Amino acid sequence: MPETKHACEICKDKVTPSRKYCDIHSALARRRFNNRRKKHGLKTSEWVTRLRENYKKNRGCIRCEISGVTLSSLVRDNKALYPTVDHEPGSTRTWMLSAWIINDMKSEMTLEEFKKIIILLARCFECCNDKIRNQLSNKLTEVMSNLKWFSR
Ligand SMILES: [Zn+2]
Repeated sequence: MPETKHACEICKDKVTPSRKYCDIHSALARRRFNNRRKKHGLKTSEWVTRLRENYKKNRGCIRCEISGVTLSSLVRDNKALYPTVDHEPGSTRTWMLSAWIINDMKSEMTLEEFKKIIILLARCFECCNDKIRNQLSNKLTEVMSNLKWFSR
């Protein structure tokens, strides 16, 4: 849809003059986060800018910046795929737009730690050889024993 004077700030679809967002993106743009958002200083304008850039880059959809899955614009459609903010632990500035379920899975790991664990887990699940699986599990134990930020 061509850009108009009264356009959704995310997808550029036409909206009535009193609105900033289309019906699909209205709730998403106004998404409320827990107090981590304030802690990390993420402003609504930054959130909307990131959504707009992601939408434009992905030519009409919003994708998780960690997994690449297509995100749902409405929480009622699919909570697992609803966009959320993943903060890199130890950093107050870095954040990624991610699927809720990916954010939960990553928890308080760095992206590098998360990738290592996911890769090792996948290899363990696929492995049919007990000896090799034990070697993989030992490596997984080592990685999990040295997580920098994870604490529960
Ligand atoms: Zn829109």
